[in-house]
Amino acid sequence: MPAISSKKPYRIGRSRTGLGLFATKPIEKGAKIVRYFGPILDSRKKKDDAIENKYLFELNGRWTIDGSVRENIARYINHACKPNAESDVSPRKRKVVIRAIKNIEPGQEINYDYGTDYFKAYLKPIGCKCDACEKKRKKKRAEARAERLRLKAKAEKRALKKAEKQAAKAGQKPRQKLNGKSNGAKLNGLNGHGGKSTASKMIAVKSGISAKPKGKQGREVSASA
Ligand SMILES: [Zn+2]
Repeated sequence: MPAISSKKPYRIGRSRTGLGLFATKPIEKGAKIVRYFGPILDSRKKKDDAIENKYLFELNGRWTIDGSVRENIARYINHACKPNAESDVSPRKRKVVIRAIKNIEPGQEINYDYGTDYFKAYLKPIGCKCDACEKKRKKKRAEARAERLRLKAKAEKRALKKAEKQAAKAGQKPRQKLNGKSNGAKLNGLNGHGGKSTASKMIAVKSGISAKPKGKQGREVSASA
C-alpha cells in the first residue's frame, strides 16, 4: 500500500468491496481531494492500445490515463451511483482531479461515478455494491416479502371463507351466515317491516336504559305512546 502523508484528508481502508478511500478530515464541497494520475496512453500507438486493466481512465478518443500505478492513490476510490465526489477531467491538460461535490465528513468513504461504460463492463455483471444500489436491493427485498405476506393472508382469508360456507351449508348455525355476509341485510329487513315497529323498538331500548329496574314496564309505556 502506498504511504499517505498525514496531512492528506484521507486514508485507505476496508470497504464493502475490498479497499476504498476514506475521509480523515472534513472535506468541503468543491475541494480538490486527489489527482488521478499515471502514464498517458495514446490509442494510436499499438503498444499503448493493447494495455488492458481496470484503472484506465479515458480522457477522450485518443488519450487515456493508466491509473494502475501504485502511487496513484485515487485508484482506491470506489464507484458509487450517488457519489460524494466527481472526476474533474481536463482532456487538454490530460489531467484528472477528484473533487468533492458534497461536504464529506471524517470516516465517510469517498466515491465518484465511474461512468456508464465502466458500469456496464464491470459492475452490472456482478451487481453494483454501492450504498444507493444496496438500499434499492433492500427495498426490493422488503417489497417482495410484503407481497408474499399479502398473498398468504389473502389465501388464508379465502380458505376461512370457504370453511365458513361449508359449515353453514352443513346447517350448523344459519345465523352465522347472516352475520358473516352483512348486517345490512338484517337491518333492511327490519326497516322493511315498517317504520312504526322500528321506531317503537328504538324508544323501548332508550327507555330501558334510562329506567333500568323497570325494564318491562317502560317498554309497555313507550310502546303505547
Ligand atoms: Zn450503484
